[in-house]
Amino acid sequence: METKTPLHYLTITLLAVCLQIAAVAQQKLPNVRVLATGGTIAGAGASATGSAYTSGKISIDTMISSVPNIRKLANLKGEQVSNVGSQDMSIKIWLDLATRINELLASSDVDGIVITHGTDTQEETAYFLNLVIKSNKPVVLTGSMRPSTALSADGPLNLYNAVAVAAHAESKGKGVLVVLNDEIHSAHDVKKMISTPVHTFQSPQEGLLGTVIFGQVKFFHGPSGLHTTSSEFSTNGIKDLPKVDIVYCYADASGDMIDYLVKSGSKGIVIAGVGDGNMTEDMLKAVKRATAKGVHVVRATRIPIGAVLIEGEIDDKTYGCISSDDLNPQKARILLMLALLKDRSREELQQLFIQY
Ligand code: GLU
Repeated sequence: METKTPLHYLTITLLAVCLQIAAVAQQKLPNVRVLATGGTIAGAGASATGSAYTSGKISIDTMISSVPNIRKLANLKGEQVSNVGSQDMSIKIWLDLATRINELLASSDVDGIVITHGTDTQEETAYFLNLVIKSNKPVVLTGSMRPSTALSADGPLNLYNAVAVAAHAESKGKGVLVVLNDEIHSAHDVKKMISTPVHTFQSPQEGLLGTVIFGQVKFFHGPSGLHTTSSEFSTNGIKDLPKVDIVYCYADASGDMIDYLVKSGSKGIVIAGVGDGNMTEDMLKAVKRATAKGVHVVRATRIPIGAVLIEGEIDDKTYGCISSDDLNPQKARILLMLALLKDRSREELQQLFIQY
């Protein structure tokens, strides 16, 4: 039998100390969960230089392991919630996502959440979660404009930066955030502004919340509107949301779509109006018919920047409608769906649009 020399014992002791130091260092990293929903960030195409690809092809584990040094930012665990292009994001996935995030964040083992998501409807998911997540821990959405197989794919660095933001102490209490192209946006403000380039997300009215450059986080200011722990909305026990639809206004548009939606059972209608939430005479008459039947109508604008004034060319009281304030039509729809989980007057709904 081999005799142990003092050197043997010293080596074993040193090894044990090193392992302990490594374990402590690992424990000190924040615990971040990455929930994957699909999108171009998980997309794959046949050619690195072609524009054709399919969303939602790559699993979350493959995505995480393709990002160098990402595990130095946080202890990461991935979960696949769905794997769809975000044009197919649904109320069901939103409700599942909200339930899972609230469950995870209630645990002291989870310090932050990253959600990978297609960019087409990312602002909608972010705003929905901003209203129903009951925690001040960071929740960060990210995605990419180029699929994982593309030359200069933007997904890996976006995911790295999103994890850095989710792991950062200053990200707490800022509501749901969107990180893309080195920028940090608030769920309330962010809009997809350009159809295909990597700088698609902008916050044209309120401005960026901050930047994140190779994981270095810098915040400039906080978000606007009530959110997360200060929001009154909850998805607890909710299986579906009331039907709310959007009608686009354009020169000479008729009120037919509004009449049709009322007949088809919509509980609310958001008008993507022209200018300051304006619409044609024919649409206005249809709005009056809709609100007389108890369908709530919100005036938003198809213009990407600026709010809809409560008192403008249209007198909301006369037509029974509501101004969306600074929410675009797709976000106004989300607030109206959540608000209509309860019976509310026109005046109460208007107040919500001012606050959220
Ligand atoms: N259809 C894609 C989606 O939203 C578009 C681009 C992207 O992911 O980002 O899922």
